[in-house]
Amino acid sequence: MGLTGELFIATQRVAGANGTFRAVSPATGAEIEPPFTLATVDDVEAACAAAEAAFPIYSNLPREKRAEFLEAAADEIDALGETLTERAMAETGLPHARLTGERGRTVGQLRLFAKELRLGEYLRARIDHAIPDRQPIRKPDLRLRMVPLGPVVVFGASNFPLAFSTAGGDTASALAAGCPVIVKGHSAHPGTAELVAGAVTRAAQKTGMPAGVFSMLNGPGNSVGSALVSDPRVKAVGFTGSRSGGTQLMKLAASRPVPIPVYAEMSSINPVFLLPSILEAKAEALGAAFVGSLTMGAGQFCTNPGLVLAVDGPALDRFLVAATDAVGVAPAQTMLSPGIHKAYESGVARMASSPALSQLAAGQEPGGPHCGRAALFSIAAKDFIADAEGHSEEVFGSASLVIRCADADEMLSVIGHLEGQLTATVHLDESDTDVARKLLPLLERKVGRILANGWPTGVEVTDAMVHGGPFPSTSDGRSTSVGTLAIDRFLRPVSYQDIPAALLPADLADGDAGIPRRVDGKPTL
Ligand code: NAP
Repeated sequence: MGLTGELFIATQRVAGANGTFRAVSPATGAEIEPPFTLATVDDVEAACAAAEAAFPIYSNLPREKRAEFLEAAADEIDALGETLTERAMAETGLPHARLTGERGRTVGQLRLFAKELRLGEYLRARIDHAIPDRQPIRKPDLRLRMVPLGPVVVFGASNFPLAFSTAGGDTASALAAGCPVIVKGHSAHPGTAELVAGAVTRAAQKTGMPAGVFSMLNGPGNSVGSALVSDPRVKAVGFTGSRSGGTQLMKLAASRPVPIPVYAEMSSINPVFLLPSILEAKAEALGAAFVGSLTMGAGQFCTNPGLVLAVDGPALDRFLVAATDAVGVAPAQTMLSPGIHKAYESGVARMASSPALSQLAAGQEPGGPHCGRAALFSIAAKDFIADAEGHSEEVFGSASLVIRCADADEMLSVIGHLEGQLTATVHLDESDTDVARKLLPLLERKVGRILANGWPTGVEVTDAMVHGGPFPSTSDGRSTSVGTLAIDRFLRPVSYQDIPAALLPADLADGDAGIPRRVDGKPTL
Protein backbone atom coordinates (compact mmCIF):
# COMPACT_ATOMS: atom_id res chain seq x y z
CA MET A 1 0.00 0.00 0.00
CA GLY A 2 1.34 3.44 -0.93
CA LEU A 3 1.45 6.40 1.44
CA THR A 4 -2.00 7.87 2.11
CA GLY A 5 -1.03 10.79 4.34
CA GLU A 6 -3.54 9.65 6.95
CA LEU A 7 -3.29 9.51 10.73
CA PHE A 8 -3.58 6.28 12.71
CA ILE A 9 -6.17 6.22 15.45
CA ALA A 10 -6.76 2.91 17.17
CA THR A 11 -5.72 0.78 14.16
CA GLN A 12 -7.82 2.86 11.74
CA ARG A 13 -6.41 5.16 9.07
CA VAL A 14 -8.12 8.51 9.47
CA ALA A 15 -7.73 11.64 7.33
CA GLY A 16 -6.97 14.62 9.56
CA ALA A 17 -9.21 17.61 8.80
CA ASN A 18 -6.78 20.35 9.82
CA GLY A 19 -5.01 20.95 6.51
CA THR A 20 -2.00 19.20 5.03
CA PHE A 21 1.78 19.47 4.83
CA ARG A 22 4.52 17.81 2.83
CA ALA A 23 7.96 16.57 3.78
CA VAL A 24 10.89 18.62 2.47
CA SER A 25 13.94 16.96 0.96
CA PRO A 26 16.94 18.34 2.87
CA ALA A 27 19.15 17.43 -0.09
CA THR A 28 17.25 19.56 -2.63
CA GLY A 29 14.93 21.76 -0.61
CA ALA A 30 12.00 20.46 -2.72
CA GLU A 31 8.71 19.23 -1.29
CA ILE A 32 8.10 15.49 -1.46
CA GLU A 33 4.70 13.93 -2.26
CA PRO A 34 2.20 13.00 -0.92
CA PRO A 35 0.52 15.54 1.34
CA PHE A 36 0.03 14.45 4.97
CA THR A 37 -3.07 15.39 6.90
CA LEU A 38 -2.92 17.22 10.22
CA ALA A 39 -4.82 16.18 13.33
CA THR A 40 -7.68 18.16 14.86
CA VAL A 41 -8.58 18.39 18.54
CA ASP A 42 -11.18 15.71 17.83
CA ASP A 43 -8.42 13.38 16.61
CA VAL A 44 -6.46 14.02 19.82
CA GLU A 45 -9.60 13.26 21.81
CA ALA A 46 -10.24 10.03 19.85
CA ALA A 47 -6.67 8.77 20.23
CA CYS A 48 -6.63 9.50 23.99
CA ALA A 49 -10.05 7.88 24.51
CA ALA A 50 -8.94 4.79 22.58
CA ALA A 51 -5.67 4.56 24.55
CA GLU A 52 -7.56 4.87 27.83
CA ALA A 53 -10.03 2.15 26.75
CA ALA A 54 -7.16 -0.13 25.70
CA PHE A 55 -5.14 0.32 28.88
CA PRO A 56 -6.96 -2.05 31.27
CA ILE A 57 -6.99 -4.76 28.59
CA TYR A 58 -3.45 -4.31 27.27
CA SER A 59 -1.79 -3.88 30.65
CA ASN A 60 -3.37 -7.10 31.93
CA LEU A 61 -2.44 -9.28 28.97
CA PRO A 62 -0.01 -12.10 29.74
CA ARG A 63 3.56 -10.86 29.24
CA GLU A 64 3.99 -13.44 26.48
CA LYS A 65 1.20 -11.81 24.46
CA ARG A 66 2.82 -8.39 24.66
CA ALA A 67 6.15 -9.96 23.68
CA GLU A 68 4.51 -11.51 20.61
CA PHE A 69 3.11 -8.09 19.64
CA LEU A 70 6.55 -6.45 19.89
CA GLU A 71 8.12 -9.25 17.83
CA ALA A 72 5.36 -8.98 15.22
CA ALA A 73 6.00 -5.21 15.00
CA ALA A 74 9.70 -5.94 14.43
CA ASP A 75 8.83 -8.46 11.69
CA GLU A 76 6.48 -6.00 9.99
CA ILE A 77 9.15 -3.26 10.03
CA ASP A 78 11.71 -5.70 8.66
CA ALA A 79 9.26 -6.58 5.88
CA LEU A 80 9.10 -2.92 4.79
CA GLY A 81 12.71 -3.35 3.62
CA GLU A 82 13.98 -0.90 1.04
CA THR A 83 10.65 0.96 0.83
CA LEU A 84 11.26 2.22 4.35
CA THR A 85 14.95 2.92 3.86
CA GLU A 86 14.39 4.85 0.63
CA ARG A 87 11.61 7.02 2.09
CA ALA A 88 13.72 7.76 5.18
CA MET A 89 16.69 8.68 2.93
CA ALA A 90 14.54 11.11 0.95
CA GLU A 91 13.11 12.75 4.08
CA THR A 92 16.28 12.98 6.20
CA GLY A 93 19.23 13.06 3.82
CA LEU A 94 20.80 10.26 5.86
CA PRO A 95 22.74 7.69 3.82
CA HIS A 96 21.54 4.17 2.97
CA ALA A 97 24.03 2.33 5.19
CA ARG A 98 23.17 4.43 8.23
CA LEU A 99 19.43 3.89 7.78
CA THR A 100 19.84 0.17 7.13
CA GLY A 101 21.76 -0.04 10.39
CA GLU A 102 19.14 2.05 12.16
CA ARG A 103 16.37 -0.24 10.94
CA GLY A 104 18.31 -3.17 12.41
CA ARG A 105 18.64 -1.31 15.69
CA THR A 106 14.92 -0.50 15.72
CA VAL A 107 13.76 -4.08 15.25
CA GLY A 108 16.51 -5.27 17.60
CA GLN A 109 15.14 -2.99 20.32
CA LEU A 110 11.61 -4.32 19.89
CA ARG A 111 12.89 -7.89 20.11
CA LEU A 112 15.07 -7.06 23.13
CA PHE A 113 12.02 -5.75 25.00
CA ALA A 114 10.12 -8.92 24.07
CA LYS A 115 12.95 -10.84 25.77
CA GLU A 116 12.77 -8.50 28.74
CA LEU A 117 9.06 -9.24 29.11
CA ARG A 118 9.68 -12.99 29.14
CA LEU A 119 12.46 -12.62 31.72
CA GLY A 120 10.08 -10.75 34.03
CA GLU A 121 12.92 -9.31 36.10
CA TYR A 122 11.63 -5.78 35.40
CA LEU A 123 8.60 -6.52 37.62
CA ARG A 124 10.94 -6.47 40.65
CA ALA A 125 8.56 -8.96 42.27
CA ARG A 126 9.01 -9.22 46.04
CA ILE A 127 7.14 -11.32 48.54
CA ASP A 128 7.34 -10.82 52.30
CA HIS A 129 5.23 -13.55 53.90
CA ALA A 130 3.10 -12.76 56.93
CA ILE A 131 4.28 -13.61 60.44
CA PRO A 132 0.92 -13.97 62.19
CA ASP A 133 2.34 -14.47 65.67
CA ARG A 134 4.95 -11.74 65.55
CA GLN A 135 5.01 -9.64 68.73
CA PRO A 136 3.95 -7.05 69.56
CA ILE A 137 1.91 -7.00 66.35
CA ARG A 138 1.29 -9.35 63.46
CA LYS A 139 3.47 -8.83 60.36
CA PRO A 140 1.18 -8.61 57.29
CA ASP A 141 1.68 -10.45 54.00
CA LEU A 142 3.18 -7.95 51.52
CA ARG A 143 3.80 -8.47 47.81
CA LEU A 144 5.17 -5.90 45.35
CA ARG A 145 5.37 -5.63 41.60
CA MET A 146 5.76 -2.84 39.06
CA VAL A 147 2.65 -1.84 37.11
CA PRO A 148 2.35 0.31 33.96
CA LEU A 149 1.50 4.01 34.31
CA GLY A 150 -1.16 4.34 31.60
CA PRO A 151 -1.21 5.88 28.10
CA VAL A 152 2.13 7.40 27.04
CA VAL A 153 2.75 10.13 24.44
CA VAL A 154 5.97 9.79 22.43
CA PHE A 155 7.50 12.63 20.41
CA GLY A 156 9.46 11.16 17.51
CA ALA A 157 13.03 12.46 17.18
CA SER A 158 14.33 14.09 14.00
CA ASN A 159 17.84 12.63 14.22
CA PHE A 160 16.80 8.98 14.55
CA PRO A 161 13.80 8.67 12.19
CA LEU A 162 13.54 4.95 12.98
CA ALA A 163 15.35 4.04 16.23
CA PHE A 164 14.03 7.03 18.21
CA SER A 165 10.83 7.77 16.44
CA THR A 166 7.49 6.06 15.74
CA ALA A 167 8.49 2.57 16.91
CA GLY A 168 11.79 3.58 18.50
CA GLY A 169 13.16 3.13 21.99
CA ASP A 170 10.52 5.20 23.82
CA THR A 171 7.64 3.45 22.06
CA ALA A 172 9.16 -0.03 22.50
CA SER A 173 9.82 0.46 26.22
CA ALA A 174 6.38 1.97 26.90
CA LEU A 175 4.59 -0.81 24.99
CA ALA A 176 6.69 -3.40 26.81
CA ALA A 177 5.74 -1.85 30.15
CA GLY A 178 2.06 -2.30 29.25
CA CYS A 179 1.29 1.29 28.26
CA PRO A 180 -0.66 2.18 25.09
CA VAL A 181 1.31 4.70 23.00
CA ILE A 182 0.22 7.76 21.05
CA VAL A 183 3.03 9.04 18.81
CA LYS A 184 3.24 12.74 17.88
CA GLY A 185 4.95 12.25 14.52
CA HIS A 186 7.94 14.44 13.67
CA SER A 187 7.10 16.79 10.82
CA ALA A 188 10.48 16.17 9.15
CA HIS A 189 9.78 12.54 8.25
CA PRO A 190 6.01 11.93 7.93
CA GLY A 191 6.28 9.25 5.24
CA THR A 192 8.75 7.24 7.31
CA ALA A 193 6.42 7.62 10.29
CA GLU A 194 3.40 6.48 8.29
CA LEU A 195 5.19 3.35 7.03
CA VAL A 196 6.28 2.40 10.55
CA ALA A 197 2.89 3.23 12.09
CA GLY A 198 1.30 0.96 9.47
CA ALA A 199 3.67 -1.83 10.47
CA VAL A 200 2.88 -1.46 14.19
CA THR A 201 -0.85 -1.34 13.41
CA ARG A 202 -0.68 -4.55 11.35
CA ALA A 203 1.24 -6.22 14.19
CA ALA A 204 -1.41 -5.11 16.71
CA GLN A 205 -4.17 -6.52 14.50
CA LYS A 206 -2.36 -9.81 13.83
CA THR A 207 -1.65 -10.44 17.50
CA GLY A 208 -5.10 -9.44 18.74
CA MET A 209 -4.16 -6.30 20.67
CA PRO A 210 -6.88 -3.86 21.76
CA ALA A 211 -7.31 -1.20 19.06
CA GLY A 212 -6.21 1.80 21.12
CA VAL A 213 -2.81 0.29 21.94
CA PHE A 214 -1.18 2.47 19.27
CA SER A 215 -2.04 5.72 17.49
CA MET A 216 0.03 8.20 15.50
CA LEU A 217 -0.95 11.83 14.92
CA ASN A 218 0.71 14.49 12.81
CA GLY A 219 0.44 18.15 13.71
CA PRO A 220 2.29 21.08 15.20
CA GLY A 221 3.90 20.48 18.55
CA ASN A 222 2.43 23.60 20.09
CA SER A 223 -1.16 22.50 19.32
CA VAL A 224 -1.39 18.74 18.78
CA GLY A 225 1.66 17.91 20.96
CA SER A 226 0.54 20.21 23.77
CA ALA A 227 -3.04 18.90 23.65
CA LEU A 228 -1.77 15.33 23.99
CA VAL A 229 0.47 16.20 26.94
CA SER A 230 -2.37 18.12 28.61
CA ASP A 231 -4.91 15.32 28.25
CA PRO A 232 -5.77 13.89 31.67
CA ARG A 233 -5.74 10.33 30.31
CA VAL A 234 -2.07 10.60 29.34
CA LYS A 235 0.22 9.49 32.17
CA ALA A 236 3.78 10.00 30.86
CA VAL A 237 5.74 11.53 27.97
CA GLY A 238 8.85 10.47 26.06
CA PHE A 239 10.64 13.16 24.04
CA THR A 240 13.91 13.64 22.15
CA GLY A 241 14.69 17.03 20.68
CA SER A 242 15.56 20.58 21.57
CA ARG A 243 16.16 21.94 25.04
CA SER A 244 13.48 24.58 24.55
CA GLY A 245 10.89 22.04 23.37
CA GLY A 246 11.72 19.60 26.17
CA THR A 247 11.62 22.20 28.93
CA GLN A 248 8.33 23.64 27.64
CA LEU A 249 6.80 20.17 27.76
CA MET A 250 8.18 19.66 31.28
CA LYS A 251 6.49 22.90 32.38
CA LEU A 252 3.24 21.95 30.68
CA ALA A 253 3.21 18.51 32.30
CA ALA A 254 4.05 19.95 35.72
CA SER A 255 1.27 22.55 35.48
CA ARG A 256 -1.50 20.01 34.81
CA PRO A 257 -4.01 19.50 37.64
CA VAL A 258 -2.42 16.04 37.87
CA PRO A 259 1.26 16.45 36.87
CA ILE A 260 2.92 13.64 34.94
CA PRO A 261 6.56 12.70 34.28
CA VAL A 262 8.25 13.89 31.07
CA TYR A 263 11.29 11.89 30.02
CA ALA A 264 12.96 14.37 27.70
CA GLU A 265 16.38 13.90 26.15
CA MET A 266 17.54 17.37 25.19
CA SER A 267 21.06 18.71 25.00
CA SER A 268 24.52 17.40 25.75
CA ILE A 269 28.01 18.38 24.62
CA ASN A 270 29.72 15.19 25.83
CA PRO A 271 33.13 16.31 27.15
CA VAL A 272 36.22 14.33 26.11
CA PHE A 273 39.24 14.38 28.47
CA LEU A 274 42.67 13.77 26.95
CA LEU A 275 44.91 12.86 29.89
CA PRO A 276 48.56 13.93 29.68
CA SER A 277 50.39 10.63 29.15
CA ILE A 278 48.18 9.27 26.38
CA LEU A 279 48.07 12.67 24.72
CA GLU A 280 51.88 12.72 24.63
CA ALA A 281 51.96 9.19 23.17
CA LYS A 282 49.10 9.41 20.65
CA ALA A 283 48.33 13.06 19.91
CA GLU A 284 48.07 12.71 16.12
CA ALA A 285 45.99 9.52 16.16
CA LEU A 286 43.64 10.99 18.75
CA GLY A 287 43.22 14.17 16.70
CA ALA A 288 42.20 12.25 13.57
CA ALA A 289 39.90 9.84 15.46
CA PHE A 290 38.22 12.72 17.29
CA VAL A 291 37.26 14.38 14.00
CA GLY A 292 35.93 11.04 12.73
CA SER A 293 33.51 10.99 15.67
CA LEU A 294 32.74 14.72 15.41
CA THR A 295 31.76 14.62 11.74
CA MET A 296 29.96 11.27 11.72
CA GLY A 297 26.38 11.79 10.49
CA ALA A 298 27.04 15.55 10.16
CA GLY A 299 27.46 15.61 13.94
CA GLN A 300 23.72 15.12 14.46
CA PHE A 301 24.03 12.80 17.43
CA CYS A 302 23.08 13.57 21.00
CA THR A 303 26.44 12.01 21.94
CA ASN A 304 28.51 14.15 19.57
CA PRO A 305 31.83 15.23 21.18
CA GLY A 306 31.22 18.99 21.46
CA LEU A 307 33.89 19.67 24.09
CA VAL A 308 37.51 18.50 24.46
CA LEU A 309 39.67 19.19 27.52
CA ALA A 310 43.44 18.81 27.75
CA VAL A 311 46.47 20.37 29.41
CA ASP A 312 48.03 23.02 27.17
CA GLY A 313 51.46 22.29 25.68
CA PRO A 314 53.22 20.71 22.70
CA ALA A 315 51.22 17.46 22.88
CA LEU A 316 47.92 19.37 22.67
CA ASP A 317 49.36 21.42 19.79
CA ARG A 318 50.12 18.18 17.91
CA PHE A 319 46.56 16.96 18.59
CA LEU A 320 45.15 20.24 17.28
CA VAL A 321 47.27 20.16 14.10
CA ALA A 322 45.93 16.67 13.33
CA ALA A 323 42.35 17.67 14.19
CA THR A 324 42.59 20.91 12.19
CA ASP A 325 43.87 18.99 9.15
CA ALA A 326 41.06 16.46 9.42
CA VAL A 327 38.35 19.12 9.81
CA GLY A 328 39.81 21.05 6.85
CA VAL A 329 39.22 18.14 4.47
CA ALA A 330 35.88 17.06 5.99
CA PRO A 331 33.17 17.41 3.32
CA ALA A 332 30.07 19.45 4.18
CA GLN A 333 27.14 17.12 4.78
CA THR A 334 23.41 17.47 4.23
CA MET A 335 21.71 18.08 7.55
CA LEU A 336 18.41 16.55 8.67
CA SER A 337 16.16 19.49 7.95
CA PRO A 338 16.34 23.12 6.85
CA GLY A 339 15.51 24.13 10.45
CA ILE A 340 18.31 22.07 11.97
CA HIS A 341 20.75 23.43 9.38
CA LYS A 342 19.72 27.01 10.17
CA ALA A 343 20.11 26.38 13.92
CA TYR A 344 23.58 24.91 13.30
CA GLU A 345 24.71 27.85 11.18
CA SER A 346 23.59 30.35 13.79
CA GLY A 347 25.28 28.33 16.56
CA VAL A 348 28.58 28.31 14.67
CA ALA A 349 28.24 32.03 13.91
CA ARG A 350 27.68 32.66 17.63
CA MET A 351 30.85 30.71 18.47
CA ALA A 352 32.83 32.52 15.76
CA SER A 353 31.76 35.91 17.12
CA SER A 354 32.80 35.15 20.71
CA PRO A 355 35.98 37.09 21.56
CA ALA A 356 37.08 34.30 23.94
CA LEU A 357 37.06 31.66 21.19
CA SER A 358 39.59 31.13 18.39
CA GLN A 359 38.37 29.34 15.29
CA LEU A 360 40.96 26.68 14.39
CA ALA A 361 39.36 25.06 11.39
CA ALA A 362 36.32 24.91 9.10
CA GLY A 363 35.26 22.01 6.90
CA GLN A 364 34.86 22.06 3.12
CA GLU A 365 32.52 24.55 1.44
CA PRO A 366 28.95 23.23 1.04
CA GLY A 367 28.07 21.78 -2.36
CA GLY A 368 24.28 21.99 -1.95
CA PRO A 369 21.50 23.36 0.22
CA HIS A 370 21.29 22.61 3.96
CA CYS A 371 24.87 21.28 4.17
CA GLY A 372 26.68 21.72 7.49
CA ARG A 373 30.44 22.49 7.54
CA ALA A 374 32.44 21.11 10.46
CA ALA A 375 33.93 23.75 12.77
CA LEU A 376 36.61 23.60 15.47
CA PHE A 377 37.28 26.26 18.10
CA SER A 378 39.54 26.62 21.14
CA ILE A 379 39.34 28.57 24.38
CA ALA A 380 41.48 28.99 27.51
CA ALA A 381 40.03 27.24 30.56
CA LYS A 382 39.86 30.46 32.57
CA ASP A 383 37.78 32.12 29.81
CA PHE A 384 35.51 29.08 29.59
CA ILE A 385 34.92 29.18 33.35
CA ALA A 386 34.16 32.92 33.20
CA ASP A 387 31.04 32.17 31.09
CA ALA A 388 30.63 28.40 31.32
CA GLU A 389 26.89 28.52 30.63
CA GLY A 390 27.32 30.58 27.46
CA HIS A 391 30.14 28.40 26.14
CA SER A 392 28.32 25.14 26.96
CA GLU A 393 25.29 25.65 24.74
CA GLU A 394 24.82 22.67 22.42
CA VAL A 395 25.45 23.44 18.75
CA PHE A 396 23.72 20.46 17.15
CA GLY A 397 26.04 19.41 14.33
CA SER A 398 29.78 18.92 13.82
CA ALA A 399 31.08 21.86 15.87
CA SER A 400 33.39 21.38 18.84
CA LEU A 401 35.32 23.45 21.37
CA VAL A 402 38.76 22.53 22.76
CA ILE A 403 39.54 23.86 26.25
CA ARG A 404 43.22 24.54 26.91
CA CYS A 405 43.87 23.93 30.62
CA ALA A 406 46.92 25.22 32.50
CA ASP A 407 47.35 21.92 34.34
CA ALA A 408 45.44 18.79 35.38
CA ASP A 409 43.94 20.55 38.40
CA GLU A 410 42.41 23.25 36.21
CA MET A 411 41.05 20.54 33.92
CA LEU A 412 39.35 18.93 36.92
CA SER A 413 38.01 22.29 38.09
CA VAL A 414 36.23 22.87 34.75
CA ILE A 415 33.99 19.87 35.50
CA GLY A 416 32.31 21.77 38.32
CA HIS A 417 31.19 24.37 35.77
CA LEU A 418 29.66 21.88 33.32
CA GLU A 419 25.96 21.09 33.04
CA GLY A 420 24.64 17.52 33.14
CA GLN A 421 25.76 15.38 30.20
CA LEU A 422 24.84 12.11 28.54
CA THR A 423 28.46 11.00 28.33
CA ALA A 424 32.02 11.80 29.31
CA THR A 425 34.99 10.20 27.57
CA VAL A 426 38.42 9.73 29.12
CA HIS A 427 41.49 8.93 27.04
CA LEU A 428 44.16 7.50 29.33
CA ASP A 429 46.99 5.03 29.69
CA GLU A 430 48.50 3.48 32.79
CA SER A 431 50.54 6.57 33.64
CA ASP A 432 47.32 8.63 33.75
CA THR A 433 45.74 6.50 36.46
CA ASP A 434 46.29 8.99 39.29
CA VAL A 435 44.54 11.84 37.42
CA ALA A 436 41.80 9.47 36.25
CA ARG A 437 41.18 8.36 39.83
CA LYS A 438 40.35 11.98 40.73
CA LEU A 439 38.38 12.52 37.53
CA LEU A 440 35.94 9.60 37.68
CA PRO A 441 34.06 10.55 40.89
CA LEU A 442 33.61 14.09 39.53
CA LEU A 443 32.23 12.72 36.27
CA GLU A 444 29.83 10.35 38.03
CA ARG A 445 28.05 13.42 39.39
CA LYS A 446 27.63 14.96 35.94
CA VAL A 447 27.00 12.22 33.37
CA GLY A 448 25.09 9.02 32.61
CA ARG A 449 27.87 7.09 30.83
CA ILE A 450 31.65 7.30 31.30
CA LEU A 451 33.76 5.67 28.63
CA ALA A 452 37.47 5.10 28.25
CA ASN A 453 39.63 5.22 25.12
CA GLY A 454 36.75 5.39 22.67
CA TRP A 455 34.32 7.98 21.30
CA PRO A 456 30.85 8.71 22.61
CA THR A 457 28.99 8.42 19.29
CA GLY A 458 27.52 4.94 18.92
CA VAL A 459 25.17 3.78 21.66
CA GLU A 460 24.86 0.02 22.23
CA VAL A 461 21.36 -1.20 23.02
CA THR A 462 22.00 -3.57 25.93
CA ASP A 463 20.99 -4.29 29.51
CA ALA A 464 23.87 -2.27 30.96
CA MET A 465 23.54 0.84 28.77
CA VAL A 466 22.64 4.22 30.26
CA HIS A 467 21.63 6.86 27.76
CA GLY A 468 20.56 9.54 30.17
CA GLY A 469 22.10 11.98 32.57
CA PRO A 470 21.43 14.99 34.79
CA PHE A 471 19.59 18.05 33.41
CA PRO A 472 19.76 19.37 30.73
CA SER A 473 20.98 16.21 29.01
CA THR A 474 17.67 14.78 30.17
CA SER A 475 14.78 15.98 32.27
CA ASP A 476 15.30 13.15 34.76
CA GLY A 477 18.78 11.78 35.33
CA ARG A 478 17.45 8.74 37.19
CA SER A 479 16.55 7.00 33.95
CA THR A 480 17.80 5.88 30.56
CA SER A 481 16.11 6.03 27.17
CA VAL A 482 18.27 3.28 25.62
CA GLY A 483 18.64 -0.29 26.91
CA THR A 484 16.25 -2.49 28.83
CA LEU A 485 16.24 -0.29 31.94
CA ALA A 486 14.26 2.24 29.84
CA ILE A 487 11.13 0.26 30.73
CA ASP A 488 11.38 1.59 34.32
CA ARG A 489 10.27 5.04 33.16
CA PHE A 490 6.77 3.80 32.47
CA LEU A 491 6.24 1.72 35.60
CA ARG A 492 5.42 2.36 39.24
CA PRO A 493 5.41 0.02 42.24
CA VAL A 494 2.22 -1.33 43.82
CA SER A 495 2.20 -3.24 47.09
CA TYR A 496 -0.52 -5.82 47.83
CA GLN A 497 -1.11 -6.30 51.57
CA ASP A 498 -2.96 -9.39 52.83
CA ILE A 499 -4.68 -9.83 49.45
CA PRO A 500 -6.34 -13.27 49.16
CA ALA A 501 -4.37 -15.71 46.97
CA ALA A 502 -7.22 -16.00 44.47
CA LEU A 503 -6.95 -12.25 43.75
CA LEU A 504 -3.17 -11.95 43.51
CA PRO A 505 -1.48 -11.39 40.12
CA ALA A 506 0.11 -14.62 38.84
CA ASP A 507 3.59 -13.10 39.11
CA LEU A 508 3.11 -12.71 42.88
CA ALA A 509 1.52 -16.09 43.63
CA ASP A 510 3.23 -18.59 45.89
CA GLY A 511 5.11 -21.40 44.14
CA ASP A 512 7.32 -21.05 41.08
CA ALA A 513 6.20 -18.07 38.98
CA GLY A 514 9.06 -18.58 36.50
CA ILE A 515 10.55 -15.14 37.12
CA PRO A 516 13.27 -13.85 39.44
CA ARG A 517 11.75 -12.68 42.73
CA ARG A 518 12.92 -11.71 46.20
CA VAL A 519 11.08 -13.92 48.69
CA ASP A 520 11.44 -13.18 52.40
CA GLY A 521 14.63 -11.24 51.69
CA LYS A 522 16.28 -13.93 49.53
CA PRO A 523 16.72 -13.66 45.74
CA THR A 524 15.06 -16.64 44.01
CA LEU A 525 14.92 -17.76 40.43
P1 NAP B 1 12.31 20.07 18.43
O1 NAP B 1 12.13 21.37 17.78
O2 NAP B 1 12.44 20.08 19.91
O3 NAP B 1 11.03 19.18 18.04
C1 NAP B 1 10.90 17.83 18.47
C2 NAP B 1 9.42 17.46 18.51
O4 NAP B 1 8.80 18.12 19.61
C3 NAP B 1 8.65 17.90 17.28
O5 NAP B 1 7.64 16.96 17.04
C4 NAP B 1 8.03 19.22 17.71
O6 NAP B 1 6.84 19.51 17.02
C5 NAP B 1 7.76 18.96 19.17
N1 NAP B 1 7.82 20.17 20.00
C6 NAP B 1 8.83 21.07 20.05
N2 NAP B 1 8.55 22.04 20.93
C7 NAP B 1 7.33 21.76 21.44
C8 NAP B 1 6.48 22.39 22.40
N3 NAP B 1 6.82 23.53 22.99
N4 NAP B 1 5.30 21.83 22.67
C9 NAP B 1 4.93 20.68 22.08
N5 NAP B 1 5.68 20.03 21.17
C10 NAP B 1 6.86 20.57 20.84
O7 NAP B 1 13.52 19.27 17.86
P2 NAP B 1 13.97 18.97 16.34
O8 NAP B 1 12.98 19.49 15.39
O9 NAP B 1 14.22 17.52 16.28
O10 NAP B 1 15.36 19.68 16.20
C11 NAP B 1 15.56 21.03 16.53
C12 NAP B 1 16.78 21.15 17.44
O11 NAP B 1 16.68 20.22 18.53
C13 NAP B 1 18.10 20.80 16.80
O12 NAP B 1 18.65 21.84 16.09
C14 NAP B 1 18.92 20.42 17.99
O13 NAP B 1 19.44 21.58 18.59
C15 NAP B 1 17.96 19.78 18.93
N6 NAP B 1 18.02 18.30 18.91
C16 NAP B 1 18.77 17.69 19.86
C17 NAP B 1 18.83 16.32 19.88
C18 NAP B 1 19.63 15.62 20.92
O14 NAP B 1 19.65 14.43 20.90
N7 NAP B 1 20.28 16.31 21.81
C19 NAP B 1 18.15 15.56 18.95
C20 NAP B 1 17.39 16.20 17.98
C21 NAP B 1 17.33 17.57 17.99
P3 NAP B 1 6.83 20.23 15.56
O15 NAP B 1 6.32 19.18 14.67
O16 NAP B 1 5.89 21.38 15.71
O17 NAP B 1 8.21 20.67 15.24
